Formats: sequence, C-alpha cells, structure tokens
Amino acid sequence: MNKYFIFFFILTLLFSCSIQSIFAAEIIDSKLFIDVEILPNANQIHLATDGNLSISEIDSPFQLEFANTELSIQLTEKIEISPYWRVGIKKFSKVSDAEKFLNNFSECFAEPSLEISYKNKELKQVSNYSVYFKEIFDSFESAKAVCEVDGWIEEKYSFSNSEILIYDVRNDKEYFLNAPLTIISNNPITVFQIPKTNFWNPKQFVTRSYDGNLKIQLNQLGKMNLISKVELENYIAGVLPNEIGNDAPIETMKAQAIAARSEALYKIIHKHHKDDNFDLCASIHCQVYSGLTGVTEKVKRAVEETEYLVGLYPDYNGKIINAVYSTNCGGITENSSNIWGGKSVPYLTSIYDGKSGYKIDLTNENKTKQWIKNYQNVFCNTENEKGWIKNTYKWQKEFSKKDLEEHLNSISELGKLKDIKILKRGNSGRVLEIKILGSKNDIHLNNELQIRQTFGGLRSSLFFIEIKKNKITFSGKGSGHGVGMCQVGAIRMAKEGYSAKEILKHYYTGTEIAKINISN
Ligand SMILES: [Zn+2]
Ligand SMILES: [Zn+2]
Repeated sequence: MNKYFIFFFILTLLFSCSIQSIFAAEIIDSKLFIDVEILPNANQIHLATDGNLSISEIDSPFQLEFANTELSIQLTEKIEISPYWRVGIKKFSKVSDAEKFLNNFSECFAEPSLEISYKNKELKQVSNYSVYFKEIFDSFESAKAVCEVDGWIEEKYSFSNSEILIYDVRNDKEYFLNAPLTIISNNPITVFQIPKTNFWNPKQFVTRSYDGNLKIQLNQLGKMNLISKVELENYIAGVLPNEIGNDAPIETMKAQAIAARSEALYKIIHKHHKDDNFDLCASIHCQVYSGLTGVTEKVKRAVEETEYLVGLYPDYNGKIINAVYSTNCGGITENSSNIWGGKSVPYLTSIYDGKSGYKIDLTNENKTKQWIKNYQNVFCNTENEKGWIKNTYKWQKEFSKKDLEEHLNSISELGKLKDIKILKRGNSGRVLEIKILGSKNDIHLNNELQIRQTFGGLRSSLFFIEIKKNKITFSGKGSGHGVGMCQVGAIRMAKEGYSAKEILKHYYTGTEIAKINISN
C-alpha cells in the first residue's frame, strides 16, 4: 500500500464515521422544532411503544419496522474516539455563492447549516453554507497554522465504529444499524431509566413517555445520546410539571410558561449547547423536561393561553430575556452578576419582593442578620403556610463541630476548624465570599453555588452563622440562587389577584410581554 493510498484510506474512514451534520433546531410550517437531550451518555437505551415504530439510519433508505414493541438498544463494542480539527474559510448565505467559490478552490468543500435568528419579534431560520478545507488536522496548532484571519477552527471527533445493536425483546431478534438513528412512532414512546433532574450526578431514575420522534447520536465520550425532537410549545408543556407543579394558581403557571419559553429561546439563540449537536438538555442545566409525563389539562391551558408569549427587554433592542427563576428569593432578589459574574443585566437586578417600592440593601452584615431573624411582609414569606412551601422561606441547619470539621477536611486539608468569616454579601444578603479558617489551611470560596455545596447543600447562601462550643448553626432565608422570578412569590402574587404579566413585570424590571412570530 503506498503512502498516498494509506492517507486516503484514513481520511475516508474518518469522514465516513464522523458526526454527520443533522440539524438541531429547525422551523417547519411556521413551528419551531427543537432537539432536547433526554438521556445522556448511554450504553443502553430501553424503550417501548404500543404503536408502530420505525428506526432508520440518517440518509439511508433502509428502515426497521416494529409494532407494539419493546427494544433494548446497545453499543456493540467500545468505541474509540479520535479528535481532529478542521479549518473553516468562509460562510455564505446563498448556495450559488458557495458553489462559485468552490469552483476556484478544489481543495475545499461546503457544508449546509441552519441557524435560528431573532429580530423584531420574529424568529427565522437562516441557511448558511460554510466552506472548509478538505484537509483535516491532528492538532489545534497545525490547524491554526493554515487558518486565515476571518477563518475559524472546529474540533470534531471520529469514531472507530458506530454500530448499534437493536434487540427486539418480545421476539428475541437482533438487528444492527449505524448511528445516528431516527426513531419515529405514531404513538408516544416510553423510555426507561431516565435520570430525574440532574445529568451529572443522577440519584434517581424514572420512566417517562415522549412524542414519537427521537434520535440517537454518538457523543464525544463514545456513548449514545437520546434526543427528543419536540415542538416548542409541547416542550414548554413538558417543562411546567417539573418547574412549577400542577397545584400552583393558573396565573403563576402562565407566568412560568412565559419565563420557561423565554429562557429556552434565549438559550437556543445564544447556542447554550453549541458543541453538542442538540439545543437543550432535559436536566437542571437547562430546564427539567419530562416529555408527556405529568402534562395535565391545567398545564395545557397555561401553555395555550400564553402561546408564543415571551419577555422582551426594550432597551436591549427588544431582545428575548434570559428569564431565569428560582424557588424562593428570601424577600429580595439577587443581581445576576453577583451569582454568575459578567456584566450586570438590567432586567435581572435586585428587587424587593413585596408591594411597596421599599428599598433595603442587605450587603451589610447586621442588616442581614435582622432580616433573617425578623418577620418580613414579602410575597414569598410562607412562615404561616403548611407543607413543602413553608420550608422554602425560613430554614436552619445545624452541624456538630466534629461533623462539619470532618466534612470540610474531606474537601480540603483544613485541620481544626477555627472560624468562618463572611467577607462579602450581595444585595439580597446572599453570601458571595467566605473564608473558613483552619489550623492547617484556610478554604476561601467566592462562588454562591460552591458555598452552598461546601456546607452540605444549603438551601441558599442567604444565611448567618453562629459558632458555639460544639455546635454550628446556619440560619437562613430563601431557596436557590434568587435571581429573576421568585416562584413562591409568584404563587402568592397570583393568589392576591395579580396576572401573569404583572408577576413577570414585577420580577424582570423594565420588560414587556409580547407574542413572537415564527416564519420559515
Ligand atoms: Zn443544558
Ligand atoms: Zn421572593
């Protein structure tokens, strides 16, 4: 085999097995369909349906047909991953322009891509044709050496194989296909062993049912990702049962639907999962989505009555807002920049969660202590209520000194716990910087989530600490990061007669609620 032939052979192999470009978000008949990752990093996918079901390779006419079936889908062997880099040269919006360019540059090829763009209350699908060098590179540096000023470099992966075993459980039959695969059914598809809320640290697994339109893709770990292709409004319906629950008043559910839709679109437009070949994950990282499971008549009504409504911020050229929310702000919402860094966002700045325009700044240590100890007349104060909602407002967590010392030493070599010093608080009183003093080392934390996790998962970082001889007590208010809409406050506001729009305008300062158009 001569050298050229070997090179050509490797190249063909790489391209034949690389991730094919399958479009994620796309607009079909003025409806936005998005790809949501519902099961990550799977070695095995177990699903069933009582309808007809077909599985096919993408771009292949071959199709497997089943009826009333139960399937176990598995990787046949360990997949080796090789990264490679390719160099982009130019992007064209017209295919004819890309073809003209290619006529002069035979060492290049063009690849179509779809992008969802937003302008003036209009969502549109934009086709692009990106031209790349055919040559691929085995390192970022070697790709960089040929990349021109307005070019770009992409990291891609090739797989040693992409073979997937489809085992028909009821008929004891085996089939083999190559990923990526599409799975279509005329009835909902039940998927077993789905992580409940958290993909990185799944503690609970559940069975859920989805619209009959799924995809299986190989990911960068050489495992399978199961994707649900779903229309935007159906996606919102699948988010509501997890993010607000069926017991909330209808106006709260409508506010939640608008917030969830805004947040989802914000993430899709800003490519939150840029390198992943899907738009959103169904985990707390994006929003928890459970398909058709838990979708009640009330959920459907909340989605229908807010169809395509989103929050817009006029001074941001009327852009869709990143409508983040958390369970209970503790009385004052937090500035987004204090929690996630970056520039301050005008519609995500701290507000007093009550009726009056009362202003209080809780960056002061003593004021925060008084705030936590005393009764406050805020929307999310649930001190006099019953059930789960009560515990979202005021809480306490106690440690024995020995237990906390042991726990902290498992994170970092602290030695004996000497003191805990709060160094900085945000406007809502949330601790943003803290120093744990030890006999061997100190632990210095300056991230809200990390602070909560370091002390065994506190409900919020709005707390003060009392250290007694053998006992350490955290007394706090609120649940979650406290930025944007306070869900418990939104429940109370609806009970007091506020509409969904009024609730949203209260939490997202200066925003308007408006309908967007979707066009091909
Ligand atoms: Zn995500
Ligand atoms: Zn609140």
